[in-house]
Amino acid sequence: MTERSTAYVPRIKEVLVWPDPKLKRETERVAVFDEQLQELVADMFATMGAMEGVGLAAPQIGVSQMLIVLRIEPEKPIIIINPTITVLDEEEYEWEEGCLSVPGYFKKNKRPKNIAVRFQDVEGNEQHVHFSGLYAFAIQHEVDHLNGRCFVDGMARWRWPHIKKKIRKQQPLNRQKAEAVRVELDKKRAMTELYKQSDEGKAQQ
Ligand SMILES: [Zn+2]
Repeated sequence: MTERSTAYVPRIKEVLVWPDPKLKRETERVAVFDEQLQELVADMFATMGAMEGVGLAAPQIGVSQMLIVLRIEPEKPIIIINPTITVLDEEEYEWEEGCLSVPGYFKKNKRPKNIAVRFQDVEGNEQHVHFSGLYAFAIQHEVDHLNGRCFVDGMARWRWPHIKKKIRKQQPLNRQKAEAVRVELDKKRAMTELYKQSDEGKAQQ
């Protein structure tokens, strides 16, 4: 069989928008490291990529599991499952914090610069990795989602109308981007199905 006939074509998922109460749900540890998990990871990368995000946590697409994906540099996709973070020192890193669940809104924020993360990879292997700077910042942002927290949760009530205005402006643009990619992937999936049927046909001959 050719590779194209078996490759999974990811699906673009709906990203929940703050302050959706589903973003506050408790998450469970990932216990099964199977093909379904790999497909979920592929869906998350595709969804994040379609909206030009650099990080996405499973609760943002309504999946209450301890799973995050990051792609800060295009050639360095990162998958982090069941993480625990240890802050290594007092140093801080400042960045314009943003979130696919709060589209269009950014705010300068400081977070610990150097962290150690214990997690499992997509095959379930234990990992222990030090992250620094933007990587550490983004991982802490995503791990907050696993704990039901979004970076704007703690902000003063008077800021909310401004945040919601930004969201109203950006969200339709994100929807359009996602829709364009969804159409492409649907085409690809239809082709994949055709190849599969034709391969099955050959196998029966
Ligand atoms: Zn976020």
